[in-house]
Amino acid sequence: MTTAHLKNLQSIEPVPLTIPANAPPAFHMLAKPTGAICNLDCAYCFFLDKEVFYPDSKFRMSDDVLELYIRQLVESHQTEQVTIAWQGGEPTLMGLDFYRRVMALAESYRRPGMAFEHTMQTNGTLLDDEWCEFYKEHNFLIGISIDGPSQLHDIYRVDKGGAPTLDKVMRGLRLLQKHDVEYNVLTTVNRVNADYPLEVYRFLRDEVKTDWMQFIPVVERINEDGLTLYQEGTDVSDRSVLPEQFGRFLSAIYDEWVRNDVGTVFVQTFEAALRNWLGMDASGMCVFNKTCGTGLAIEHNGDLYSCDHFVEPDYYLGNILDKHMIELVASPQQIKFGQDKLDTLPTYCMECDVRFACHGECPKNRFITTPDGEASPGGEVGLNYLCAGFKHLFHHVDFPMKIMAGLIRRGHEAREVMSILEQAFTGVKRNDPCPCGSGRKFKQCHGRQQPKSSRKTLPPPQSRSAAIRKSE
Ligand code: SF4
Ligand code: SF4
Repeated sequence: MTTAHLKNLQSIEPVPLTIPANAPPAFHMLAKPTGAICNLDCAYCFFLDKEVFYPDSKFRMSDDVLELYIRQLVESHQTEQVTIAWQGGEPTLMGLDFYRRVMALAESYRRPGMAFEHTMQTNGTLLDDEWCEFYKEHNFLIGISIDGPSQLHDIYRVDKGGAPTLDKVMRGLRLLQKHDVEYNVLTTVNRVNADYPLEVYRFLRDEVKTDWMQFIPVVERINEDGLTLYQEGTDVSDRSVLPEQFGRFLSAIYDEWVRNDVGTVFVQTFEAALRNWLGMDASGMCVFNKTCGTGLAIEHNGDLYSCDHFVEPDYYLGNILDKHMIELVASPQQIKFGQDKLDTLPTYCMECDVRFACHGECPKNRFITTPDGEASPGGEVGLNYLCAGFKHLFHHVDFPMKIMAGLIRRGHEAREVMSILEQAFTGVKRNDPCPCGSGRKFKQCHGRQQPKSSRKTLPPPQSRSAAIRKSE
């Protein structure tokens, strides 16, 4: 891999199309037009280090690669809806003209009846009115990263000089709101902010004023050389969230959400879980599906990888300049990658009572031994590092989830759960058995008082010198 895959872009010829019989009708391709290049230096960004895979690269998707990319993406889809998704690094560093060209290319290759969904994940710090007008005009869905109030966000999300970034992110977010651009918030859950679930959730809901949230656990594996470049090693960094801590974080937010915000705030993990309680697939959350493999990543030079979290040599599929994208998407290597999510589950998971909701989560996090010392069928240790957290969460939410699933099956709205819970718990004494049937006392189960805030006091605001640096 590495430089061997950098292409002479002057000699690009369109690659002939053959759609393999086993090709998925649609898939999600995350494009990285600037590779790993970003204007910020967030301590736990799993992508910044990937620069080393492309020495001497300018890290800009050329016009030729872009045209081939859009063309193959459109040709590969057998559905009317095609998602064109940009991420980084920081994709706005490409400049607006790049994306104007994307619009023109998409339109030129669009088949009759085909519609595009344009998305971009950005840190938001470079947005201005012109960007937001463009987003609005083309109905972009923007993902913006915020880890909580400044005392939490600015610990790890710093710029190249180590300075805090929340103020700049919020300026960009207010511009998105001013221009009525559709957006959602992505929060990475690390060892610090995981102790403040209510502060994080209420900040996003009440101050950021988002109604769509996504919580992603930070799990950084330390490689043999001390770096975090590959999905290898069984130790994790000090920034990584602890398993039980992650479970408690999500459970606390769930309790607040299920009592107050069902139907008005969309929390991706809870929506995916509800779908699993309904016996459907987890939709947009590959980690909670049985198998995966239809969420791939493409680098600035046309290199295609199995997944955004596996942009490393062992998961390189090929380059779209050599082979049509759909052949890579449907290749035996990629089919196996997706099927392995199920096939490498240890028996401990196969026998787990919440497997229907968890499915062993993401393979990138499966690197610990099971409590009984079992190895996965592939001979590697393979229990999810976050297992204890997922067990806690999925047991904790079972009762309200069953109520919501029942409501939906009967044609009601899930939000009716809020009044049902209120009625079910009215009059129950603290030492009575909990109505959910857990066998625990009400006061230790659903009767537990929802605290006004998390127990810990928020850490002091980060200064430039206090910001925790990547080198830690
Ligand atoms: S490896 Fe993880 S993140 Fe990647 S597609 Fe599979 S489940 Fe999703
Ligand atoms: S909760 Fe743990 S044992 Fe159960 S499926 Fe998830 S990772 Fe496996």
